[in-house]
Amino acid sequence: MVLTGMKLWIGIDDTDSNKGMCTTYLAVLLIEELEKTGAKLIGFPRLIRLNPTIPYKTRGNGAVSFLIESNKDIGEIVDLVDEIVLSHAMLDDDNTNPGVVFVENDNRAIDFLSKFAFKAVRDVISLDEALFLIGKFMLPHLKYKKGRGLIGALASIGLDLYDYTLELLAYRKPEKFGSKREYDKESFFEADKKTYPKTFDTVDWHNKEVVCVPNSPDPVLFGIRGEDIHALKEAFEIVKTEPIDKYMIFITNQATDMHLIHYNEIEKLENYRSYILKGEVIDKYEIQGGHVFIVIQTPFGEVKCAAFEPTKQFRNIVRKLERGDVVEVYGSMKRNTINLEKINIVELAKIFIEENPICPVCKKRMESAGRNQGYRCKKCKTKSKEKIVKIKPREIEEGFYEVPPRARRHLSKPLVRMNVEKKHIFR
Ligand SMILES: [Zn+2]
Repeated sequence: MVLTGMKLWIGIDDTDSNKGMCTTYLAVLLIEELEKTGAKLIGFPRLIRLNPTIPYKTRGNGAVSFLIESNKDIGEIVDLVDEIVLSHAMLDDDNTNPGVVFVENDNRAIDFLSKFAFKAVRDVISLDEALFLIGKFMLPHLKYKKGRGLIGALASIGLDLYDYTLELLAYRKPEKFGSKREYDKESFFEADKKTYPKTFDTVDWHNKEVVCVPNSPDPVLFGIRGEDIHALKEAFEIVKTEPIDKYMIFITNQATDMHLIHYNEIEKLENYRSYILKGEVIDKYEIQGGHVFIVIQTPFGEVKCAAFEPTKQFRNIVRKLERGDVVEVYGSMKRNTINLEKINIVELAKIFIEENPICPVCKKRMESAGRNQGYRCKKCKTKSKEKIVKIKPREIEEGFYEVPPRARRHLSKPLVRMNVEKKHIFR
């Protein structure tokens, strides 16, 4: 069939809840139903992760958009989409407020949406801002309940993917939704061994966990992340699981650090934003539960940074920091605390320690001979005035460290993707 129809972006968000569904899955259902009407999917659907700190969002805060070419008129497409959202979205949940937006590919709204989208990833956007754009460009849309999903729906269409990765998402048979996922753990380690670093964050070797299989009751069976479509497919062939219903490859801003605002760009710090900050360590402590904190002095004042218990061995790096170390921290700010995703130790402080001298005659450590009396060897009575000043050997090196795969946030760029010197990668 020759298509000469219109090209239409469809963006959708906020259809899931903690009890089930996943917007990526709903998008795949939409694509299937639209294809039945003769529409054609163009390129990969886009999975766009928005500001990860927004409190009322489900954990992932992911919206989806895709481009289709269709001969149907837009009214028919909107009706079909409405029907599918009504039958699959978790509308009974108070926190689920879906939104769908339709934007023709040649609409000049697209240019405005890219700025809006970038803000949705790094900042906090009100529903009014989304409704304003929808009104300004008269965009067809579907708004359910509060319609908060319209924000992500617009952003998922507009975001400029100047950096991107891919994720292959495999879905369960509908009758399995909510039950325990069946899979062969070893096969995921095997897939990682064969395809890393072209795929990443499939497993966590140190903590012996498969990290790409969720525990939530949603339709996702697993997701293979990576840079290269062939590597994704290779890993997909290796893993052994319960029967797969369907799968889809998404292009995504996951693993790009797109949420982080650099300290050069700001004048003050705000909660619900994510930052790269540079500062000097001025304090360090640990609280019950194994949560490790440092306080750094920055141009914006003192900032508390946390390595929480789930970041496991990453905490050992933070524990070895000392006052005076210069670090760059990467992470989201909530309750006035940066939740560390990565740390770059820029410069380790020289820490001096004082020791009693060694007796030159019998090689034993000398003792204090009293206040301002110097030192004396207990055995041979040799005297010495000078204590020894030594530089304390540091147990860590300068460079980049990151949380292990089990604790990685969707948007965090793994070090394996970063073009920097002195990387210390936890696998
Ligand atoms: Zn001696």
